[in-house]
Amino acid sequence: MRTGQTRTWDAGNGRGLIIRIARICRWLLTPQSRIRDGDLLKVSYYYAPVLDAGQVGICLSHPETYKILADGFHGISELLGPSKILISCDEVRVIGQCQLCRSRNQNCGQILADAVKKCQAIIKHEIPEAQMFVWSDMFDPYHNAVANYYLTASTLEGSWEGIGAECGIFNWNFGKSSESLAFFNKRGHRQISHGIMMSRRGKKA
Ligand SMILES: [Zn+2]
Repeated sequence: MRTGQTRTWDAGNGRGLIIRIARICRWLLTPQSRIRDGDLLKVSYYYAPVLDAGQVGICLSHPETYKILADGFHGISELLGPSKILISCDEVRVIGQCQLCRSRNQNCGQILADAVKKCQAIIKHEIPEAQMFVWSDMFDPYHNAVANYYLTASTLEGSWEGIGAECGIFNWNFGKSSESLAFFNKRGHRQISHGIMMSRRGKKA
């Protein structure tokens, strides 16, 4: 592969996901390197996929992730003092791919459940009076909480175990709304059925 070469591939999840890797294929070589442009390289490494308009997933297993979240919520508390918080944990395209995540020997549902639990604990600590909500899709077995969602390394089954009963659901499952609403209702969550997203009926997420 030439430095800077763009290559696309199908992630093989049946959804036709194509990722452009132009930016992550620009190898930086030291002046002393024996590698020459055009050499064929065999490499073994973990990489951060760049999706859509430059999105890069954060590692859900790294302690720094939760320090960043705590700093953010601390700032929100000081500046805004909100009475309600929407946890923007939706359409998480990459989970469990790095060595740190894999070393936990947990599936992606367990990793995400733990992550959202930590997030709720941080909010409770930083903004104790705030009522919490979370987007539904990543915790919904009728939506994205399934096996091999995008670049997740395994199944997201059980991710919903991480949402406390006091945390409300912003439900935007317009494909299987009856099943989804019933699922979260049975688990004791308050729900807001998101009208704007529902109006996009027919558009895939
Ligand atoms: Zn990770």
